[in-house]
Amino acid sequence: MKLYDSIIHETMTAAGSAKRFPADAVTAWPVTENSELIMQRSAAFELGGSGLPSANYTLVTTDPAYQGDEILVAGPDLPALKADTAFARIVILETQEISEDDAGHDMIRQMEFVRYHVFPKGYMVRVSSTSFEEQVRVSRDALKAGICFDRIGKAYLEKYKKVPGVKSVKILFITDRALVEQLKPNAKKADDITKTLSHILDGLPTDCGHCSLKSVCDEVEGMREMHMGKKKV
Ligand code: SF4
Repeated sequence: MKLYDSIIHETMTAAGSAKRFPADAVTAWPVTENSELIMQRSAAFELGGSGLPSANYTLVTTDPAYQGDEILVAGPDLPALKADTAFARIVILETQEISEDDAGHDMIRQMEFVRYHVFPKGYMVRVSSTSFEEQVRVSRDALKAGICFDRIGKAYLEKYKKVPGVKSVKILFITDRALVEQLKPNAKKADDITKTLSHILDGLPTDCGHCSLKSVCDEVEGMREMHMGKKKV
């Protein structure tokens, strides 16, 4: 599947100077069963809050150029932060081809589930699926215990690797404000692609003249061909 490839290319190019952590060398940060409440008085700082720019998006590809599990960090890591900051969490998944049957549906559903259901200890996540943003409150205790993005990323990565069909996972954390602002528009584009893909897998009629998703297909290379059955998903 190549539907997200131009956004992946743009994201990885923009984050070219990010620090890279091969996942094998990292131990996952502990997670809890459910979201943990961190009161403001216990917080060291917030990521993506206080009116600062924030973005959260997930991209999927079958291009083997994106093989390899790793965590990337662009901007200061958690131990170096002293105040609230801009924030983005971007996930790039290398997967097998997404089929037009129940397995394809299930893969997309499970990927979306993982996006909102990892609860690192001392790291309270609030995701807004309508504004494509993510805010995180980091506790002072977690900071003292050594919390850092590579370990948080490994916790997400381990959960994504349990989704059938996912081969490799890259998790990119950004605290560089200019970079968050640059990449933020991609969050809506990625969401439009995922929603259109879900509708197509749901059996949407192939009637472009009366389709509300036409603007997405006009912009995303390969989407129309995929729906018309000329190309594999
Ligand atoms: S190919 Fe046509 S019918 Fe299919 S989603 Fe795109 S605009 Fe709609």
